[in-house]
Amino acid sequence: MDGKQETHQFKTEIQQILNLIINSLYSNRDIFLRELISNSSDAIDRLRFKAQTDADILGDDTEYFIRITPDKEKKTLEISDNGIGMTYDEVMENIGTIAKSGTSAFLEAFENSKNGDTLAPDLIGKFGVGFYSAFIVADNITLTSKAAGSDAGVRWESKGDGSYTIEEVKQEKRGTTILLALKEPEEKEDDDYTDEWVIRQTVKKHSDFVRYPILMEVDTTEDIPEAEQVKDKDGKATSTTRKVRKDETLNSMKAIWTRPKSEIKEEEYSEFYKHISHDWNDPLSHIHVKLEGVVEYTMLLYIPEKVPFDFFMVERKHGIRLFSRRVFIMENCKDLIPDYLRFVKGVVDAMDLNLNVSREILQQDKMVRNIRKNIIKNVLTHLSEMDKETYEKFFDAFGMVLKEGIHSDWDNKDKIADLARYKTTKSDGAYVSLKDYVIRMKPDQKEIYYITGESMSTLINSPHLEKLKDKDYEVLLMTDPIDEWVVQALTEYEKKPLVSAEKGDLKIDDKKEENKAKELNSLFEFIKTELTDKIKEVRASTRLKDSVACLSSDEGEMSAYMEKIMKATGNAGPDAKRVLELNAEHPAITKMKELFEKDKKDMRLKDYSQLLFDMAVIGEGGKIENPSRFNKQVGELLSGAI
Ligand code: ADP
Repeated sequence: MDGKQETHQFKTEIQQILNLIINSLYSNRDIFLRELISNSSDAIDRLRFKAQTDADILGDDTEYFIRITPDKEKKTLEISDNGIGMTYDEVMENIGTIAKSGTSAFLEAFENSKNGDTLAPDLIGKFGVGFYSAFIVADNITLTSKAAGSDAGVRWESKGDGSYTIEEVKQEKRGTTILLALKEPEEKEDDDYTDEWVIRQTVKKHSDFVRYPILMEVDTTEDIPEAEQVKDKDGKATSTTRKVRKDETLNSMKAIWTRPKSEIKEEEYSEFYKHISHDWNDPLSHIHVKLEGVVEYTMLLYIPEKVPFDFFMVERKHGIRLFSRRVFIMENCKDLIPDYLRFVKGVVDAMDLNLNVSREILQQDKMVRNIRKNIIKNVLTHLSEMDKETYEKFFDAFGMVLKEGIHSDWDNKDKIADLARYKTTKSDGAYVSLKDYVIRMKPDQKEIYYITGESMSTLINSPHLEKLKDKDYEVLLMTDPIDEWVVQALTEYEKKPLVSAEKGDLKIDDKKEENKAKELNSLFEFIKTELTDKIKEVRASTRLKDSVACLSSDEGEMSAYMEKIMKATGNAGPDAKRVLELNAEHPAITKMKELFEKDKKDMRLKDYSQLLFDMAVIGEGGKIENPSRFNKQVGELLSGAI
């Protein structure tokens, strides 16, 4: 492809998103500079990380910088760095397709919001558009880059109008340069990004703590040394100062986490969060702790407010960054945080970490293990101390992830269980903690009841809950797939067993019904034979009150929801047969018994057996095998009844 120029079209949806971004973010347009500076700073971090194992890639270019060059005449702004750079393929991959798999999910979310041609800020927050935000201020962007260790450079150009060109070019130095051809401002009072004052303010506001110097060449006056001064006839210097171009460093480069907490403003915490996370929203809260003692380290951790767009992708980029004495070691250090806290972002700076750690060594490092333990402790305590409103916001976004810890972190299981919240049959849509559930239990109630399933409305109306509701017992409604794993690990809470409302014998029945059930034995045998390939047993129900039939599992068996999840993930075994439970008190069963005793060969008994099974399936929100047969049967019954 030497020298050849290729033109590519953006995917249509990318174009659409681009237009939306530009329109929606116009009033915050100064953030484009933060995004480009963060990218440059990340690129230098990456270079330094790579150099730990391959020092040659640095060459003699080791004075790291990010440079901003405005040009008033040409109306351009250039941002360049000597970071890791990108190869041709990397530019195609990273810049040619915005956020890859996030795109369609984002568009879907957008379609669902009724927001015309601007984006709701929370939607933007879900979508990482870093580099593309430059199109808010530029009508043409040229990116040139050379990857560390590579021979050729690459040049990418786009007007943000649906296509871009890409070609190989000669470039000497490693790093990336982004040249923005600035748009005419829409309003007179709009900031002019070729104005040095505007650039200075914007960097100060959004990027002050970036650890590499952000340089801008400016005019300064300096004193002319005596020997170089031009003197007039009286021996007086014609001028003692002169104008020179000099680099000014625009940022303080001060690591925010090393400063005393009392001196850091909330906005500064927020800006730093946005810098490290590439999130557009403010964080929900932060944890800033300095530990002194045998091991010394500082952690500045953030809980995001919203689920980031790439959260469900395996390779998330921005997690916890590890430093040692303010020297960057690695980004997204997964060893410092368990998976179930993967929403946490931030920085850990340890005093005495082995600087040459490789990822493998890191896992075994005693200090890293110690820090990890403390991160978990601090995050869980922090969450438990949040006010109700903030915590519920958090739980709505990340509760599903946090609950994984009940299953995976045995040491902290109880603490995480304290943090779990559920909607219940009595909470009217509000969250209830297990602690509150136990406090609200009825005097004669010994167990904590729950039911799992996909939709809240099916669960709350489930026939399985009829008896429990009749007893006025509260039932936890669990609708996250992860809850199936939670209840496997959490068999009791405060010594009260957790019991599934759809499994085993609920043990809340009285003797009278047991006797009645015995009388039904032969009818039940008949039904079981009729349905033998679908069910393993017919039993008098301990949970039904108004409905005729439901399906249940035996204790220790999979719930219907679990089976559905396993099927969806391709992990299902053969269909497990369940128990058909019938309501011995229901007139339909009594009548069926009469019919059965009169004539065991009555054809209707076969039909009714099928019908009972179908009704049980429908009652739990399942799909029946033969809807048209069901239709006909109910139709016949209806015409007889009216
Ligand atoms: P994000 O930074 O959130 O991943 P961006 O759209 O800003 O999203 O950037 C996409 C990718 O392009 C980055 O992840 C990085 O791999 C690459 N990139 C962007 N800017 C630079 C740069 N200055 N140097 C090297 N790589 C860069």
